[in-house]
Amino acid sequence: MREIDISTVTEAVQRLCLEANYVAAPDVRKAFELAAEREVSPLGKQVLTQLLENMRVAEVERVPMCQDTGTVVIFADIGQDLHFSGGLFSDAVNEGVRRAYTGGYLRSSIVDRPVGKRTNTRDNTPAVLHLHLVDGDQLTMTMLAKGGGAENMSQMRMLTPGDGLDGVLNFVVETVERAGPNACPPVIVGVGIGGTFDSVGTLAKQALTREIGSEHDDPQIQEIEGELIQRINNLGIGPHGFGGRITALAVHVEIAPTHIASLPVAVNLQCGPAARLRRVTI
Ligand code: SF4
Repeated sequence: MREIDISTVTEAVQRLCLEANYVAAPDVRKAFELAAEREVSPLGKQVLTQLLENMRVAEVERVPMCQDTGTVVIFADIGQDLHFSGGLFSDAVNEGVRRAYTGGYLRSSIVDRPVGKRTNTRDNTPAVLHLHLVDGDQLTMTMLAKGGGAENMSQMRMLTPGDGLDGVLNFVVETVERAGPNACPPVIVGVGIGGTFDSVGTLAKQALTREIGSEHDDPQIQEIEGELIQRINNLGIGPHGFGGRITALAVHVEIAPTHIASLPVAVNLQCGPAARLRRVTI
C-alpha cells in the first residue's frame, strides 16, 4: 500500500487550475492554428487569429484566457493500493481550488445555492468531483474548467431505441445549432450515448477529456464522429457565430451499455477559446 500526504493533492490541484487558466494546451493551440488556415470566412479567420493572440497574451502575462474561469470539474482515478493520509481527499481538492482562484486572481464563479440568495462562495469552491477506483497505487487527476456559456447550452435527452442512430445524430446537431454563438464557438462537442439518466452526462463530459482530434479506437464511433463534425461544420455558425466553416474543432463520442428500452444521449459543449484541461499523475 502506497501512502501520500493529502497536501500533495492540494498542491497538484492548485497547479492544474493555474496552468489550465493561463496556458492553452498544445492540442487546443494546434486545433486553432489549423482552423485559422482552413476557415474560409474572412471574419471567421480574423476571430480565430485574435483568439490565438489572446492565448499568447494570457500565457506571457499569466492572466486568464477568459474572464469566466469556470467551474472546476475533476475526474480522479484512484489506485486501489493508494492511501491518503492527513485529511479528506475532497477537502484537499477544494483547498487546491481555493488557493489557485484566490492567489491567482481568477474570478470566483460559484454560488452556494442555485435558487434564492445565490451567495458567491468567493473562492470558486466546491469543485465537482468524479471518483473512480482503478488498479495500482497511483492517482491521476484530469481537471476541466467549465465556463457557464458552454455548459448552459449543453443538453441531454432520453431517446428510445426506435429513435436509432439518426435520432442521436439529429439531437447532437440540433444542440449545437441551438447553442449558436452562446457556447463561444468553435466548440468541442462531447457526446455520451448509453448508460442511464445520471451517468450519460458524465460520459459526455468525459468525452471532452480526450485529446482534440484523437481517433476513437472503435471504427463505428469513428464514423459517427466523422459524420457529426461534417454536419456541425455545415451549419455555418462559424467562429463566435460570425459565420464560417469552423463551428466545431472536434466531436468526441463515448458509449456505454444501456437498458434494452433506453437510448440516453447527452451533449456537453466546451468552448474552444477557453478549453481548459489539464492532467497529472502522482
Ligand atoms: S463559454 Fe468559454 S469562452 Fe465563452 S465566456 Fe464562457 S468560459 Fe469564456
